[in-house]
Amino acid sequence: MSNRTTILDDALYEYLTQVSVREADVLKRLRQDTAQMPQHNMQIAPEQGQFMALLVELIGAHRCLEIGTFTGYSALCVALVLPDDGHVVACDVSQEFTDRAKPFWREAGVMDKIDLRIGPALETLDALIAGGERGRFDFAFIDADKVNYLGYFQRAFDLIRPGGLIAVDNVLWSGAVVDASRDDDDTEAIREFNLALKNDARVSISMVPIGDGVTLARKR
Ligand code: CA
Repeated sequence: MSNRTTILDDALYEYLTQVSVREADVLKRLRQDTAQMPQHNMQIAPEQGQFMALLVELIGAHRCLEIGTFTGYSALCVALVLPDDGHVVACDVSQEFTDRAKPFWREAGVMDKIDLRIGPALETLDALIAGGERGRFDFAFIDADKVNYLGYFQRAFDLIRPGGLIAVDNVLWSGAVVDASRDDDDTEAIREFNLALKNDARVSISMVPIGDGVTLARKR
């Protein structure tokens, strides 16, 4: 027993997924399809997708934002648990990656719940704010280019309601955040983001060591 977070070796990780992950068949096949791509590491882990779906259910979310959709796994996890009138505004710059998601979204019957916006997410979010959507979202997932994390967070914060939740991916960056030899823009941006969140009194936070690290921030 330990009073710090348990490190998962391969056997324990395997056990965790075996006894807790209930991945729908369509999600599994989407994941297998993405696994053939060189960029497959950009996809979230299945236990993380299930965790986010649970969060969406817990807060009774109807309107969700996603910043960085890639091949659509996380959007599908969320869309599958949304009520009939719920939807996800999914932002990504890649037509190619998001096209790969569509057959799976369609098969899962959630095409009309996912409002895909191709283009720079900062512009999409600014357009939502300008269009009167401030405070009208319940949940946001940030998982796009790391150098813009603070910009995405600021806009997501404006767009969600008090009591709404923002989940931010890759906050541990495979451990690079504590590697003094790493001074690349992405790593520096994540360190800066994590420090900014710690000092942001507008939100309650928890950094959860699931996947590559997810920080949850609840708007006060
Ligand atoms: Ca990610």
